[in-house]
Amino acid sequence: MSRFWSPIVHDLDPYVPGEQPKVANLVKLNTNESPYGPSPRVLAAIQSYEGDRLRLYPDPDASELKQVIADYHAVKPEQVFVGNGSDEVLAHIFHGLFQQSAPILFPDISYSFYPVYCGLYRIDYECIPLDINLAINTADYARENGGIIFPNPNAPTGHLLALNEIETLLQRNTDSVVVVDEAYIDFGGQTAINLVDSYPNLLVTQTLSKSRSLAGLRIGFAVGHVDLIEALIRVKDSFNSYPLDSLAIVAGVASFEDDAYFKQTCKQVVRSREAVIVGLRELGFEVVPSAANFVLASHKEKDAALLTSGLRSKGVIVRHFKQDRIAQYLRITIGMEQENQRLLAVLSDLIQN
Ligand SMILES: *Cc1c(COP(=O)(O)O)cnc(C)c1O
Repeated sequence: MSRFWSPIVHDLDPYVPGEQPKVANLVKLNTNESPYGPSPRVLAAIQSYEGDRLRLYPDPDASELKQVIADYHAVKPEQVFVGNGSDEVLAHIFHGLFQQSAPILFPDISYSFYPVYCGLYRIDYECIPLDINLAINTADYARENGGIIFPNPNAPTGHLLALNEIETLLQRNTDSVVVVDEAYIDFGGQTAINLVDSYPNLLVTQTLSKSRSLAGLRIGFAVGHVDLIEALIRVKDSFNSYPLDSLAIVAGVASFEDDAYFKQTCKQVVRSREAVIVGLRELGFEVVPSAANFVLASHKEKDAALLTSGLRSKGVIVRHFKQDRIAQYLRITIGMEQENQRLLAVLSDLIQN
């Protein structure tokens, strides 16, 4: 603390990212990264980028990338906003579309960055409890609000909401912006992007960090009505006109051009997820059904914090949230086959002892 801090900084309660360990050879299942490398076409695009061009600022609009995303999702490029990871896109959404008179709504168990943005931008919020199955009940959001946001599938539960439930919510909620954070949609859900032309208050965000194996490059985007996108552009151009660097732009374009690799790696993650769920249940875990690249699991007898530290001492890192209702759960990212087997083997040892 320092007397030079602004009152806002003084009151901040910042997001705590999962550990990025400095030592090698750990089985890293804690931050929902892809276990597979990016598409070879992405690597080739970065390698063939002419180094001298790094003298120049990147395209402030990243128009090539917007075009590729627009084509992929059958929308107009003017309906696409890109940012330095979807975290930055979300920050601009909170800043530009959620600063309203009524509190915004999000689930009590959800992406822990949402309340952090509220603190940064001084936005009132109310947390809506998940139901007893740790699922979102959209009927609970039928109340006055300054905006609604939830991940679909939800994080850290992995629970997927069907598109028709989202549509019901949109039909009821027409006076504020509804944001569907689809960070994990490629692992088994149906995107709400197809609804943006019917609902001018719907904004859908996605990221290249998880299903496209590019967490290190920081690329995220939002799709919605041009008026919503314009708000985000106004915030961006009042903050940083060049959120995507030149390499991120060419790599992002190349990623969308290799659909076969994308589909194949997503499919492998889904296959591994189902095997991990079976393995965990055999060990006595209760597992929330997941449509994401992670699972949330609770052991009937063993304490989650002890399991987490036991795993850590054997070189396996998972995430444990010290939060009400999920304090007895582990959030486990789906890794490569051998990593998942190592996880289950270490858990089996820990449970027997
Ligand atoms: C990972 C994640 C993000 C952020 O992803 P970026 O790497 O910033 O693109 C956003 N929302 C949820 C729910 C996430 O899990």
